[in-house]
Amino acid sequence: MQTTTVNADSYAGHLKDGRDFIDDAALRRALAAPQPSAQRVRDILARSLAVSEALSPEDAAALIAVEDPGLLEEIFEAARAVKRKVYDNRIVTFAPLYASNFCVNNCLYCGFRTGNEGAVRRKLSMTEIKAEAEALAGKIGHKRIIFVTGEHPATGAQYIADAMREIYAVKVKTRRGFGQIRRVNVNAAPMSVPDLKLLKTAGIGTYQVFQETYDRELYAKLHPGTTPKADYRWRLYVMHRAFEAGIDDVALGALFGLGDWKFEVLGLVAHSRELEARFGIGPHTISFPRLETADGTDLPSRSLENVPDKDFKKLVAVLRLSVPYAGIIVTARERPETIREVIGMCTQRDASTRIGIGAYSERYGAQEAEKQQFLLGDTRTLDEVIGELADLGHITSFCTSGYRCGRTGDHIMKLLKSGHESRFCKLNAVLTFREWLDDFASDATRAKGEALIKKEIAEIRAREKDFPPETVKLLDAYYARIEKGERDLCF
Ligand code: SAM
Ligand code: SF4
Repeated sequence: MQTTTVNADSYAGHLKDGRDFIDDAALRRALAAPQPSAQRVRDILARSLAVSEALSPEDAAALIAVEDPGLLEEIFEAARAVKRKVYDNRIVTFAPLYASNFCVNNCLYCGFRTGNEGAVRRKLSMTEIKAEAEALAGKIGHKRIIFVTGEHPATGAQYIADAMREIYAVKVKTRRGFGQIRRVNVNAAPMSVPDLKLLKTAGIGTYQVFQETYDRELYAKLHPGTTPKADYRWRLYVMHRAFEAGIDDVALGALFGLGDWKFEVLGLVAHSRELEARFGIGPHTISFPRLETADGTDLPSRSLENVPDKDFKKLVAVLRLSVPYAGIIVTARERPETIREVIGMCTQRDASTRIGIGAYSERYGAQEAEKQQFLLGDTRTLDEVIGELADLGHITSFCTSGYRCGRTGDHIMKLLKSGHESRFCKLNAVLTFREWLDDFASDATRAKGEALIKKEIAEIRAREKDFPPETVKLLDAYYARIEKGERDLCF
């Protein structure tokens, strides 16, 4: 059985004069700067629209400082424009698979914390994980999941690697074809380089770890004692270790509502720039979950007080603009009306989400509250969500080919920045959406989806420079084969 080993030597070499890359004083100075002029704001927006590197924390702070309603609207519009430029009208959907709530840490905000003695603990067996994957891939139609565990020796890297292999092996018959989970992302504890290598070998998609808060004093209060999580820098440098282990597809996030949201935004920007500077690759995605009330925690959820909805929209826009090539993930922790406000700036969301352990494959009724980590804001089904996205003009993409065709890390960054990734993705969105409509959609969603596909194909045909005749011919051929029940054909 593996044990967690926090190793301070692993990050000591990255420090400069004993300091890490979160320069608290500089970030606080940036936040204290006076309101920027309209011209400065427009200059920043123009730089973001060029989609090259992350903006500076000073630029992000200037956007945060804007209060003028007209200028704020320009910021939102620019954020939507960056999204369209890099990711067009696509939204990628996924679901979390919660595999275990055993945890050695005691994060004061989380229902899985070790001090929550009333929690019913459970770790899924490989058979149970297979059942979860079959339900996700065969009944709901997800192709991409994020595998989530607490931090515990019983659910270390070997357990996660075994689970990933189990999940990738699932193949379930559907209405017209078959369902599979084609991409397994992981949200788990910060690991050592050898453990991360294990995940790499098992075919990890994205490795996601949230810093929770970049404010180190608050971090220390929320993660007391000598638990592994108490070491701020072990967590801060986990993505450095991921790159060292060969995982170049990494995801950042902070838990908003714990402290000052403005500081967290700057922390995420600084972190993105550090990865760009060190490895030439920034984060693949950024998440900004807002704290929800969790059973068994004494910490009152002050999310709505600390990050009211109007600030939430602003923080999404500033993150979108500050790291223009990154995917931006809004989660089902948010209510549908909040998601509608920000989805035009985002690239991914989860749907049909269940956060109880074993919750997709089992009827678990009353027990759910005891096993789940916190309460969700959007409990709608994937079918309902896809129907609403179609109403808003967004096509749902189930494309996972980037990772499987080697379009990750440095390669995908270049494609994203040049706008070329968009072309593969537009074609793959059509193909994978067709699969999902045939296999899982209700009649109403299918009708909306088909209208959208027709529009997309017409657009592809009209953009001859981006999509030459031979590409369109291949698209037509793949499309016809998918209609006959073939699956997983992609560019
Ligand atoms: N144990 C691993 C860790 O802490 O990194 C990964 C699993 S943990 C369940 C995943 C994330 O859930 C955490 O990083 C945290 O941001 C989020 N989380 C914890 N408690 C939450 C709450 N009450 N509301 C919303 N998100 C929460
Ligand atoms: Fe454990 Fe993660 Fe929850 Fe902290 S946030 S108690 S580490 S599961």
